[in-house]
This record gives sequence, C-alpha cells and structure tokens, in this order.
Amino acid sequence: MRLIGITPFRSSENGRLCLSRDYADALRQANALPVILPMESDEKRLEELLSRIDGLLLSGGEDVDPKLYGEETLPCCGEIDTERDTMEMPLTRMALEKNMPVLAICRGIQVLNVAAGGTLYQDVAEQYKKEVEHPVYKRPREKVHEMHLVPDTMLSKIIGFDQICVNSRHHQAVKEPGKGLIVCARAADGLIEGVEMPDKRFVLGVQWHPESLCSYSPEALAVFEAFVRACDDYAAEKA
Ligand code: MN
Repeated sequence: MRLIGITPFRSSENGRLCLSRDYADALRQANALPVILPMESDEKRLEELLSRIDGLLLSGGEDVDPKLYGEETLPCCGEIDTERDTMEMPLTRMALEKNMPVLAICRGIQVLNVAAGGTLYQDVAEQYKKEVEHPVYKRPREKVHEMHLVPDTMLSKIIGFDQICVNSRHHQAVKEPGKGLIVCARAADGLIEGVEMPDKRFVLGVQWHPESLCSYSPEALAVFEAFVRACDDYAAEKA
C-alpha cells in the first residue's frame, strides 16, 4: 500500500500539529496509507523524509508569505505561516526534482505555484472580482460554485466532465502560474481553480477541496485515485 506524506499545520493556540481528517480519510478511501509529516526545516532531513514516502500531499492552511513571490504584504493578506513556508518550499522543490507525485490542495496549490516561481492574489475579493463568492468557509462540504475543466488536461481526463460544481474555502488564488504549470480548471469568473505540470508524472494543484467531497462525489474521489495510481507507478520505478 502506498505511503503518502501529508503536511500539517501548527495550532496557534497550543502549538500542536494538526490536520483536518478529511485528507487522511480521502487517501484511505483511495486505498493508500496516509502519514502526517513532522514540521521540519533541515533539508537533509526533508530529503530523508521524501525518500520514505511514495507521494506528497500539500494540505490547506494559512497564507504564503508574499515576499516569496516578490510582493509586499498588503492589508488584505491573511495570516502568514512562515514555519510551513520554510518547510514546504524546499520540500515541494525536492519532490518536483524527484518527479514524485504531488497533490496540492488550497494553500497547497499556492505553495506549489510560488515554489515554481508564480504569483498569488493576496485576496481575491480585493484584487480580482467579486462575481463569485470563493471564501465560503461555513459550508465545507457543499458545492457552491461552478468549475470549468480545460479540455485535454490531466484533470479533465480524471474528472471526465467539462464542468462540475465544487466547494470553495479560499480567499487567495493563483495569479500568474509558475514555470512548467498550466491551468486545468477555472471558476465561472475565470479564477484559476486548478494547475498541473504536463512534464511531470503527476503534479496537480487544486484550489477547491476534493478531500471534503469524497464521501458523495465520485469525481472528487477520482482525483485521489489518480494520485494514488501515480504513486504506484513512482514506487514501482523507485524499486
Ligand atoms: Mn473557489
């Protein structure tokens, strides 16, 4: 069974490492073995961690430091998670170098994009448009807006529809995609909801939360199943 490492967040209240159980439950449903990674910044230890897992899941959380994409922090930017930035930036770059499968969700797509040299909207409502409501935090398992898949992308093939409805729990989003990333999904207002790296085995970033829809949405579960299949291939090649 494939071992998938998931990055956690640290509770600002009591310093505990935490993870929404949806990520682990979704991987379990896709027949993989999820493991929560420790918070780590030493690159040798990160490399060691990566050598023990078959895939990397970058989970949701607080905002990426705008200075990592060359911007000043605006008042509309949310809480910045420097500890996670310090771990996830090198971890993501190393995983990409190894051609390890990466599934990057919410903050994860933002980390992936910034690690690839892209930029973010520090606040969608402030800097983009207000047409579609994206920060719908109170309905985590509800499909609240439409999403259009870009034809012939990996994600469109995984999902198997031109458009679906998704949940939306974000106030930031990808502005300029980083090097090697292409857009594979957009909301009805044009906002980027998915990116992927065609040159890699499986590198997918999604701005929505498929992990919270797996219990009733086959297309959400299909994302995790495709990820785990890619981890199978990676593990077979590694062996
Ligand atoms: Mn959205």
